[in-house]
Amino acid sequence: MLRRRRESLAVIALIAALLVAAAVAASRGYVRYNPIQSDDAPVARVLPVALSSFDTDAEHESARSASSSASNSAFAAAATRNAALGASLDWTFGGKRQRGWSLYLPLIERTIDVDAGSDSADFAQAVSRWQKSARLPATGVLDRADWMQMIAGWQSRRLKGAPYPDASQLVSIPDSELYDPNRPAEMRMVERTTYAAYKRLLAAAISNPSLGLKTKSEVELADSEKFFKVVSAYRSKAHQDRLRREQPEAGRAALATRSPHFTGRALDLYVGGYDPVSSKDDNRALQTQTKAYKWLVRNAERFGFRPYFYEPWHWEYVGN
Ligand SMILES: [Zn+2]
Repeated sequence: MLRRRRESLAVIALIAALLVAAAVAASRGYVRYNPIQSDDAPVARVLPVALSSFDTDAEHESARSASSSASNSAFAAAATRNAALGASLDWTFGGKRQRGWSLYLPLIERTIDVDAGSDSADFAQAVSRWQKSARLPATGVLDRADWMQMIAGWQSRRLKGAPYPDASQLVSIPDSELYDPNRPAEMRMVERTTYAAYKRLLAAAISNPSLGLKTKSEVELADSEKFFKVVSAYRSKAHQDRLRREQPEAGRAALATRSPHFTGRALDLYVGGYDPVSSKDDNRALQTQTKAYKWLVRNAERFGFRPYFYEPWHWEYVGN
């Protein structure tokens, strides 16, 4: 009897010890949120300083400045690493090998809330703040695991589960808002609420003098202006199926079997480049540097539009 009680006490003690160990591991950040491991060793790990454990303000201050100078040198190293990774990080998307993340800098800066070059300590510090919020090790280095998680975050915010519209929910885009005003009638349709949101977005862009858009009126672009015009909107599934039969050599994106364009809520907008909708790297590099694209990255969400990171021209209306 006594022996059995001693055994059960031992079991309870063992369970308690395991619980304490698990809690300590979690509080030290050993439990990684993202299972994807990177090939690159982190340059520096910035350890959080628990200010609450200090008694006086003076101790707070000295702890903070010690932490800050340690952070500065850590972020300098991280900044050097980011400059390299921005150009050279090896990753895969859509079955295709990709190089670097500097192409996506406007979106990255928006996501981590910073306006500084990717080779700067400010950028690295912003990366580390974002890493903390994403429960990743706060290295300040945008390495593969971090980058994959950032992409997953963008992808998770895209349009989901929107129904395909019937004819009563579609409206026709007028010539003045089309990149190609000769687009046939069945190819210029868009879902009604998406179009209303686009008109609000367009009026805001027109009223922003820094974009320098040529206009006919406060709400209308000039014929000669291309930026912000609609390249493509609603595409019926039947149309897409026909395309697939006629152009078996065309790229994956153009022939997606479940395109957001079927919902009438996806807009391809002209944001520059030598081709409005080519995903070639050099074309996208031109597009993501235009004022129009950068303005969309910072403002489209106010009007209910979210980006598809890989296609700078593609915006989806998710509402507000
Ligand atoms: Zn599109």
